[in-house]
Amino acid sequence: MANGSFKPQGHAFGGSDTRVLIAGWIASMALVAMVAVLVTAYFSGGGDSRSPVADGQAPSTVAEQSSDSSQPRPDAGMTRQETADSETVVKSSPDTRIETGAAGDKSVAASESASAPDESGVARKPEDTSGKTPFMPGVKLAGAQGLVPMPSAFARSAPSESVAGWCKELVAHVDAVSTDDCMTGAFKDTGHRSVDGRPMIVGDIPATSRPAQGRVLLISATHGDEPSSIATAFSWIKLMASNGTNYEWNVVPTLNPDGALHSPATRVNANGVDLNRNLPTTGWAKESRDYWRRVGFEKRRFPGESAGSEPENRWLADEIGKFKPNVIISLHAPYGVLDYDGEFPPPQKLGRLNLHRLGVYPGSLGNFASHMRGIPVITVELNDANEPPAEAEVQQMWADLNNWLDRYFRNVRQAKVNTSNDAG
Ligand SMILES: [Zn+2]
Repeated sequence: MANGSFKPQGHAFGGSDTRVLIAGWIASMALVAMVAVLVTAYFSGGGDSRSPVADGQAPSTVAEQSSDSSQPRPDAGMTRQETADSETVVKSSPDTRIETGAAGDKSVAASESASAPDESGVARKPEDTSGKTPFMPGVKLAGAQGLVPMPSAFARSAPSESVAGWCKELVAHVDAVSTDDCMTGAFKDTGHRSVDGRPMIVGDIPATSRPAQGRVLLISATHGDEPSSIATAFSWIKLMASNGTNYEWNVVPTLNPDGALHSPATRVNANGVDLNRNLPTTGWAKESRDYWRRVGFEKRRFPGESAGSEPENRWLADEIGKFKPNVIISLHAPYGVLDYDGEFPPPQKLGRLNLHRLGVYPGSLGNFASHMRGIPVITVELNDANEPPAEAEVQQMWADLNNWLDRYFRNVRQAKVNTSNDAG
């Protein structure tokens, strides 16, 4: 190309001027590009990790930031879908302990509306999700905090072999209890055994508020042929997990495992003893014989040969001594009433069950815990021994029970304050 043959239109630069200009332009563009690359690297590498991720533009980054990067992630559309429903997020990524931000807040709103009773006393259910709500081991919903980790005692840990064996039997015998419900890590083998060698299992569920406002012992299947009591206990455990609880709970789903897990289930334990007539209460030796004569020596109500003779009851007495519950709730069926032993004013109703005090029997839990130890005992007699209450009823019972517990513990705290004022 001849020198000067190229002249940019409208400019009077010579050939060498043009080359210098082009070189300078290229150099400055390169500099701009380098700065752009550095700035991009800075912001995407930790300067502000929220910006691209929160908009769902970079699902791969979300996957890398979740606690389990080995899990294959769904495509971007699926990720956004799941973010709108954090329950699905938890379900698809069970190891994720903490979910924050908008997704958590939305799920809390959904959860609260699912469990909050409306003015008619019937719990509202948004769409059809509540029946399928998965039990979420290791995660709970708490107010405005979104999903936060549950205390370690409630976190998922591999159940021991004995707990797994107990769960397998329980799921086979009680339709309403699923393997997921049972294998949560909340249940522990106490090391004690029933007559037939089954483990005495306790679910230790810590309060989600600090400090715990009291200790509550919940017992089901004292009589093995009342499986609706077991289903109700599991439903309440789920409500503890989803709504949180102010109390520390020990839950004994099968006080009488041999009766509950036998085919067919039996009221009495493997020694043929009615556990709710066998606790070592005052005057048991004579009173239990009188009682048994009155009921015509009915085998289903045999109090046993001696007070507290049964291993399940010896363990229960031990458990009450160690856990020191402030309140005991015992689930039975099928009389459809609410019974109560204690000094504090009783709950008037639990769901549709109305207060109807039945009195105490020799060797019964109300006698043993309330009369002898001053621990209030709420005995819930469900309407049907097999069919558990409907979900809305279970939730209403739970709400009524917690209202009473709140009232009871408020009263206990106030009494302590009054006592200390009197002392001063
Ligand atoms: Zn019963």
